[in-house]
Amino acid sequence: MAKTFLHLDMDAFFAAVEQLDFPKFRGKPVIVGADPKEGRGRGVVSTCSYEARVYGVHSAMPISRAYKLCPHGIYVYPRGRRYKQVSDQIMELLSGFSADIEQISIDEAFLDITSTIKFFGSSVELGKTLKQKIVQETRLTASVGIAPVKFVAKIASDLQKPDGLVVVSEGSVKAFLAPLDLSRLWGVGPKTLPELHKLGLKTIGDLARYPQHKLKMGKVGLHLWNLANGIDHRSVEYETRAKSISKEVTFDSDKKNPEELKNILLYLCNELSREMRRKGYKGRTIHLKIRLQDFSTFTRSRTLEVGTNKTDVIFQNILDLFTNFDPAGSSFRLLGVGLSQLDIKCRQLDLFDGLPENKSKIDDVLDRVREKFGENAITRASLLYAKHDSQWIRD
Ligand SMILES: [Mg+2]
Repeated sequence: MAKTFLHLDMDAFFAAVEQLDFPKFRGKPVIVGADPKEGRGRGVVSTCSYEARVYGVHSAMPISRAYKLCPHGIYVYPRGRRYKQVSDQIMELLSGFSADIEQISIDEAFLDITSTIKFFGSSVELGKTLKQKIVQETRLTASVGIAPVKFVAKIASDLQKPDGLVVVSEGSVKAFLAPLDLSRLWGVGPKTLPELHKLGLKTIGDLARYPQHKLKMGKVGLHLWNLANGIDHRSVEYETRAKSISKEVTFDSDKKNPEELKNILLYLCNELSREMRRKGYKGRTIHLKIRLQDFSTFTRSRTLEVGTNKTDVIFQNILDLFTNFDPAGSSFRLLGVGLSQLDIKCRQLDLFDGLPENKSKIDDVLDRVREKFGENAITRASLLYAKHDSQWIRD
């Protein structure tokens, strides 16, 4: 059966988050990356705002070069934890549009929307709704590409940035690809591009029309020729991606109080189980990670008879492991919890399929209220402390 893929890519993500959080940065060239030190800094540009791109600044450019091109720009260090927070919010939102999600970077994901288009009327409507939802919930814009072939969706999302929506219909894939530069093909890099240029090929269409047997580039040549002709059987690879899921925090100052540490563990278990449920996973092996003040690191684990994604079950086991650990008077620097031996059979689109059997009632209610009213709407009483005192989390 023909598939439909959606590729989502946030626009100038890190810089956009900075402009969102600091209104004085809006409309200005914002460059996220290393310290420019008046053009003598080391390191590179991570992301820059569209206002900075006007000056020729782009990501991966040496920061010293960026400074020469745009000395009046606003230079900021990346705030990884904040970007991850926004990213999690976006990825969670995507699960309302497909159960098959492959996150490929902090601000990019593929969705297989084959079976969910019907809930939105058309792929265009699905794309529009998704973009609107992201703007409503994060006040950030995204670019979306939709196509019957995975890599074509990725190319499409890049064509009308920022705030783009490009839909390539079945049957028009080759025509869509033909005029584009060869460098846009996945796998065409600094080595292969000159080889193709030598053959007089400039566009994807040139390669598509070139007799395949004359390419003489081995497997790579065949692969690229297939892509140029819109042939690519890759699908959304959520199943092989996650081998384990974990959550951890490093504390600002080392901690000793057992009650406080247990509270933090509950918070982590809650975050972990929510992600497991959202992604439709159950895990059999529960892991506890501990780092003490002297950086010595310990892991403890336990394997259950059957997989779980329930907060209470995970927490009870973590608590056992934690209680049996003897820190010998040391303070804690880091705590982490994780699940492995993941089973994905329980994956399903709960938004459309009703109550999944793998959820406990209380977890389900909590998840739903949060979906509807936002992250902070409801929380278990003992989590209140952790939620509002984020001092102990650092990047
Ligand atoms: Mg992006």
